[in-house]
Amino acid sequence: MQRWCKLHQNETGWPLARGLHMPVSDMNRREDDEARLEECRRHFAAIVETIDDGILVLDAQSRVLYGNPTAGALLNAPVQCLQGNTLDLSLPESGSVEMDLPRPDGEPRHVLIRAHATMWDGKPARLVALLDITKRKETEDELESARQAQLRMKDEFLSRVSHELRSPLTAVYQYVTILLDGLAGEINADQRNYLGITLRNVNQLRAMIGDLLDVTRSRSGKLSVAPGEMKLAGAVRTAIETVRHEAQTKNQTLTIEVSEDLPSAFADPMRVQQIIVNLVGNAIKFTRPGGAIRVSARMCVPATGGRATLEVAVADNGCGIDPEDHERIFHHLYQVDKNIDQKRMGLGLGLHICRDLVTRLGGRIWVKSLLGHGSTFFFTLPIYDPELAVMFLVQNRLERARANGETFAVAVVVADAPADAIRPVWEALLPVLKRQAFTAAYAGQRLVVLAEEEESQTDFVRNHLRRLAKDACFTAAPDLCPSLSYSVATSSADTDTAEALLERAGAAAITECSILAKKRLIAVDDDENCLRMLHRVLTGLGVRSVRKAGGGNELFAALEEELPDLIVLDIQMPGMNGHEIIGRLKEDDRTAAIPIVVVSGYVGEHNRIEDKSLGMTIPVLSKLNITEVRRWVQYLL
Ligand code: ADP
Repeated sequence: MQRWCKLHQNETGWPLARGLHMPVSDMNRREDDEARLEECRRHFAAIVETIDDGILVLDAQSRVLYGNPTAGALLNAPVQCLQGNTLDLSLPESGSVEMDLPRPDGEPRHVLIRAHATMWDGKPARLVALLDITKRKETEDELESARQAQLRMKDEFLSRVSHELRSPLTAVYQYVTILLDGLAGEINADQRNYLGITLRNVNQLRAMIGDLLDVTRSRSGKLSVAPGEMKLAGAVRTAIETVRHEAQTKNQTLTIEVSEDLPSAFADPMRVQQIIVNLVGNAIKFTRPGGAIRVSARMCVPATGGRATLEVAVADNGCGIDPEDHERIFHHLYQVDKNIDQKRMGLGLGLHICRDLVTRLGGRIWVKSLLGHGSTFFFTLPIYDPELAVMFLVQNRLERARANGETFAVAVVVADAPADAIRPVWEALLPVLKRQAFTAAYAGQRLVVLAEEEESQTDFVRNHLRRLAKDACFTAAPDLCPSLSYSVATSSADTDTAEALLERAGAAAITECSILAKKRLIAVDDDENCLRMLHRVLTGLGVRSVRKAGGGNELFAALEEELPDLIVLDIQMPGMNGHEIIGRLKEDDRTAAIPIVVVSGYVGEHNRIEDKSLGMTIPVLSKLNITEVRRWVQYLL
């Protein structure tokens, strides 16, 4: 109370006080004035002390100089306790913030806080108003969820209706086409004309239903894009062909200026065509007969750095768009009233879908237009970059997994070898992975594979991928097999970026060398020199151990002690020969699955042995062909 009085006496900063102090010479009038002033002060203090909004005055160090009871209640502290203490809230110097302050029962209370710079006792201070907006927020949230539920119902309804409409409309389209093509008999000029009009309207209906379906798919996150390396020129040509007829009927010129030499885009060709058909369709629609439409593209390198993009422009000299509508036309169902050509009215969804698609493809769409002079719609697409393709693949799957509450595994094979050298291996692997329903992409030294597997399956995924990678290496680049490493990570609800997931996978990488370093081998040969040579070749692979056996008996004695991961076996030995040894190994369950590399001093061209446990025939290799021996051992380990 005293403070307010003081404030009035100083006449500083407090708006209500201004104008109350009137200098007078007459003492009586002065006393009257002071009495009125005192009454005003009392009224004013009563208001401030009882209003539902919290009021605080803070000094430059955020110490509380004054607080009304509501402020105390909102901050869960009696005013007397606040006074003189520093307020531990990050408030702006001036302006407003919303924050959650706890209630005494621990529940959050949503408070709008407005701060104004002011003067208090001649010093800089802040006047802070606190408004409890919890109820308002709750109502807003309820309204928003009701709105969302309504939108969902509307989308579901639209989706169903569009699906139902599509089938009969397709039948109408097909029969009209049959009639027009003369397949049901000759038609006269009038009939052709009427059927032509019918077909145009059917096509328009089909386009609208397509838009409706796309919009409902887009809202439910099901509008898919499948980007890859694509040439823009081809997509533009294909798109233009579908609308050329419309432009011709309005006598409009339609030109394309898209060079074949532009770098490839990273986009979905079908979706790019859809965007171009939409933009050119609009240009035709909103340009008078005889007008001109031009589609061009160029490469843009941002002056501020960052990735270069491809920019497509669709320009017309039609009715143009008012600047205040430049943003709104991309909104759901928005149409500029003045522009609507009653004969060819659309639904106001095309640009909304275009924006959604362009955004999903990692680009941007906007318009420049002058009312009465025409419009140019621009959109950008990323330039193809394998790294981008890999990231897109993972990010896209991540978002889908998050939306559907699923998990998936990301497996990465990295080659510690030049990108050019390993490319044939990746190229050989991709079709195999695709056949097995994996999604995969590679960039440089890295191949990324998406597998629909749970966390518990990561070892299975890694081993399977390792097997496939080794298969591909075996034919494409055997020397690079030891340079490979394999890693797997599963997505989780809190993995938000592709980078984070790939980094997690990378941290758990297992190298081919470390796998080899755990392997135990036995080489069997009766020739001491050959055995020594085989030992050297095999040890050179970096395996854990290579045991030597001079014949069948030594081998089976060694097997009693420890089972190896692979046996290199000479086929021609006195006593127990290789065939006999293989027979015994395959008969015993403990040893049947151990891979065997068969070698011989004398190898005929088609010398092969069937290994039923591996389900393949394996060649008998020449002991002299060290490269082949190493290649097979690496492959089978
Ligand atoms: P629709 O064409 O079905 O109305 P769109 O979303 O494609 O829906 O376009 C929204 C609105 O933007 C159109 O109704 C029109 O008012 C305006 N518009 C779009 N393209 C052009 C253009 N090239 N020239 C003038 N106005 C345009």
